Amino acid sequence: MQPASVIWEKSLTILKEEMSDASYRNFIQGLIPLGIDDGNVFMLSLPREKNAYGYSNELQLTSLRHVYMETIARIVSNVAGTELTVRFNEPTADEIEMPPMPDGYCECPSLIRRYTFDNFVMGESNRFAYAGAMAVAKAPAVAYNPLYIHGGVGLGKTHLIHAIGNYIHASNPCAKILYVPSETFITDVITSIGSNTREQLRDKYRTLDVLIIDDIQFIGGKQSTETEFFNVFNALHNANKQIIITSDTAPSAIPLLSERLKTRFGCGLVADIQEPDFETRVAILNSRIQQDSLDVDEEVIKLVAEHVTGNVRSLEGCLNSIVAYADFTNKPITTELARNVLKDFVGKDGSKRPVTLELIRQVICDYYDVTVEELESERRDQRIARPRQIAMYLSRSMLGLSNPAIGEFYGNRHYSTVMHACDQIEKKLKSDSALKSNIDDLIDTINNNKN
Ligand code: ADP
Ligand code: MG
Repeated sequence: MQPASVIWEKSLTILKEEMSDASYRNFIQGLIPLGIDDGNVFMLSLPREKNAYGYSNELQLTSLRHVYMETIARIVSNVAGTELTVRFNEPTADEIEMPPMPDGYCECPSLIRRYTFDNFVMGESNRFAYAGAMAVAKAPAVAYNPLYIHGGVGLGKTHLIHAIGNYIHASNPCAKILYVPSETFITDVITSIGSNTREQLRDKYRTLDVLIIDDIQFIGGKQSTETEFFNVFNALHNANKQIIITSDTAPSAIPLLSERLKTRFGCGLVADIQEPDFETRVAILNSRIQQDSLDVDEEVIKLVAEHVTGNVRSLEGCLNSIVAYADFTNKPITTELARNVLKDFVGKDGSKRPVTLELIRQVICDYYDVTVEELESERRDQRIARPRQIAMYLSRSMLGLSNPAIGEFYGNRHYSTVMHACDQIEKKLKSDSALKSNIDDLIDTINNNKN
C-alpha cells in the first residue's frame, strides 16, 4: 500500500473538490496523516496549533466524527485501493503550538467558550436582552453600563453574559474580563476579611475592564458583601469599565438589597428574559440538533416544543432524554417514542403546576425520602438537615422569597437559620459536583412537575 502521506495528499485534492471551501478550510486542511494502523485504520491527527487565541479543537473533532468521517473514509479507501476506516487523534497538550499572542494578551479562564452569540437563539422572549447584550459586546462601557439581565431559571442569562465576554475577548484579546457567580464574590469578601487581604480583593475586581457577575440576588442582605460590591461598582463605573449583572428578578425586587445598590443596578439598561414561545422553542431545538448533528424528525421537534413549555434547560434535557432513550433501546426516534419519554416531563395534558413553596417541599420530600414533619422538626441529623437546607435554598433561588417568609414556612424558624442554610448550600455547591447535579435534577423536576 502507498504510504499514508501519499494517500492523504491525493485524497485532499478530491476532498477539496467535493466540499465547500469553508468546510475544507475549517475541518480538513490542517489534518495530519499519522499512518495506517493494523493495515486498515487510517490515522489522522488534528492540527498542532490551536485556533487563534486558544479556542479548543472540540468543535472540529465533533464535526469530523459526525459529519465528515464517512466521506473521508470513502475517499482514502478509493485512493488506497482497499477498505480503510478513519480515526482521529487529538494532539497532546505539549504538541500544541500556540500562535503568538498580542502584547498585553489576557487569558480569560472564567469564560465558558461554548456560550456564544452564534449558538444563542433569539426570539420574542429574549429579543430585548439579546439586543442589549449585543450592543454591550460591540461597544463595552459605551452602550449601556451596567447591563442588567433578569429572568427565571434556565432561560439563558448565563449563556448570554458569557457570549458578551467571549465576543469582547475575541475583538479585544487584551481586555481584562472576569466572570464570577455572585457566590464567588461573597466568598472572596469573607476570605479577605478573615485573612486581612482587602488589598488583593480590590486588585482582583477594581482593575478589570469587564466585570460579569451572575445571580447577584444572593448578595442581598449580606452587609459586608454589599458594601464591597458598592465600592467595586463605583470604582469600575467611574473608570468607564463595563459591568454586566444577572439576577432572577428586577433590581427593585431583590430581597433585602440596599436601596443604593438597587438604584445603581437600574441606572444602565435593565432587560428581562421571558419563557420562550413556541417558535423560539422549535428554533432552539433545531439549533441544538444541528450543533450535535442529530437526526430528529420535525414532528418530534414540534411535539417536544408543544409540551415542554417552561425553560430552555428542560427543553434541552427532554431532547437529550429522547436521544439517549432511542440510543439505549436501539430504536429510531419516532413521535411514539418521544411521547413515551415526554410522559416523564409533563402531565398528561401537558399542563404544569406553578412553582410554589409547597411544590418545592413536596419534590424535596420525594427525592430525599423525608416527611414534611421531619423537615419542620428540630432534628439536626444530616438525613433531615441537608434536605431542609436545600429546600430553603431552592425556595429562595427559585421563588425569590425573603428569608423570614421561608423560615416561617419551614417550622417557624428564625430568618438567620434560612440565611445560614442558603450560605451552606452555596458554599458547598462550589466544590461538590454531586450536590450540584442533585440540585440541577431537583430544579428540573420542580420546573417540569406533573399534575
Ligand atoms: P440561566 O442562567 O438563565 O439559568 P442558562 O444560561 O444556564 O440559563 O441556560 C440554560 C441552558 O439553556 C444552557 O445550556 C443554554 O445554552 C441554553 N439556552 C438558554 N437560552 C437559549 C437560547 N436562546 N438559545 C440557545 N440555547 C439557550
Ligand atoms: Mg445562570
